[in-house]
Amino acid sequence: MKRKGITRKIKRTTPKTDRSEVMRVVRLRENTRITHCPKCGNNTIFKAFSSQCAEDACEVWVECECGYDPTFGRPEYRFEDVWGGTSPDNVETALGVWNDLIADLAPKMEETGNPAPGGENEAR
Ligand SMILES: [Zn+2]
Repeated sequence: MKRKGITRKIKRTTPKTDRSEVMRVVRLRENTRITHCPKCGNNTIFKAFSSQCAEDACEVWVECECGYDPTFGRPEYRFEDVWGGTSPDNVETALGVWNDLIADLAPKMEETGNPAPGGENEAR
């Protein structure tokens, strides 16, 4: 969903190619704030991604170092930013999404043993 009107007033001269797709490895200190990865238990090393998804919007999300990405198949959970990028602010927001999403997915994973993307409607 586009949220026009929430455009940052900072004018940057970044060339467009710079925000097509960006990945940065984020290393956090030991903490109890970030939910542990349900696959490998890591909560300190993440890959932060930023990818342009529209003319005036980028998707930003984080993925565990093991490759687990709770937003995979759920682009609506990736947060949109006009400029994108993996700035500390954006990483912080994306980690908040990681926490929320893993909490949301936890009951489903117990049932199926697998965070099956888009499998919620399967009658079984
Ligand atoms: Zn992991």
